[in-house]
Amino acid sequence: MKNITVIGSGTMGNGIAHTFAQHGFEVSLVDIDTGALSNAIQTITNNLDRQVKKGIIDDYVKTTTLDRIKTFTDLQQGAAGADLVIEAATENHEIKLKLFKQLSNICSDDVILASNTSSISITQIAAVTKNPGNVIGMHFMNPVPVMKLVEVIRGYATTNEVTNVIMQLAKTLEKDPVEVNDYPGFVANRILMPMINEAIYTLYEGVAGVEEIDTVMKLGMAHPMGPLQLADFIGLDVCLAILKVLHDGFGNQKYAPCPLLVNMVTAGHRGVKSGSGFYKYTAGSKEHVVADKFIRK
Ligand code: NAD
Repeated sequence: MKNITVIGSGTMGNGIAHTFAQHGFEVSLVDIDTGALSNAIQTITNNLDRQVKKGIIDDYVKTTTLDRIKTFTDLQQGAAGADLVIEAATENHEIKLKLFKQLSNICSDDVILASNTSSISITQIAAVTKNPGNVIGMHFMNPVPVMKLVEVIRGYATTNEVTNVIMQLAKTLEKDPVEVNDYPGFVANRILMPMINEAIYTLYEGVAGVEEIDTVMKLGMAHPMGPLQLADFIGLDVCLAILKVLHDGFGNQKYAPCPLLVNMVTAGHRGVKSGSGFYKYTAGSKEHVVADKFIRK
């Protein structure tokens, strides 16, 4: 396996492209938005610079990594010649089903089609392709170059052979893959999202303010960051989309997204990527202060 196509160059797509390129793969990064593609190359460059500064890699690795990434806005061109496609586009059923239908026509039958979806059914995605046995979930964690886990999700039709190839590939990227079955939210988000949603309800009901809630979870549970800040990093739109999948999939009220989360996403407060969520972020840096509106009075 040499040529990897990554679809979607947002938070996850740029990290996935970075990680594959740093491990010697040729990467075609595809997005419909040219601005997202140039932001992705800038983010990858900044992250490589940070790795050089920390002595993790040298300048040669930085340059060769960047040289291995080509950008495309045309899916046909970007996916031609791929040995593996990893879709990391917006968490939306329609977008993903349309993309996999197109990919199934563009790519030859032996190409593995993986999705980085946080929650959408791999079985449903596979069902729109010609070869559902070759469709699998490869769920990286954010930030991809740093986080060790890859949740590998077997759809109903995914073959043992494809699962083994993807488990092995994740190890080649120096990740620790864990194999799970295809049910709403898989394992990671089925457990994480109810906690984030509960933290938002705790704020919404005035039990405590943003910093207090995050401090309780950081100092009390030894979490590296609080759930509200983590939600900002994941993207509040992504959190909302995942909660909707859990709510629809299990039909249980406990997964109903908090109205405050719905309002914030509707108002365009999507977290770090939009500059504002539960915290406000300085452009181009992780510096933040609590967004005034959500401080407990
Ligand atoms: P994002 O909003 O940062 O980026 C999505 C990108 O997809 C955008 O640049 C958009 O222009 C592009 N896109 C939309 N439709 C497209 C199409 N038809 N063709 C090509 N590109 C298209 O989203 P993200 O946070 O990177 O999430 C991407 C995927 O990864 C989602 O499925 C999400 O659930 C999953 N995921 C996200 C996180 C996280 O922490 N954000 C973690 C794990 C998995």
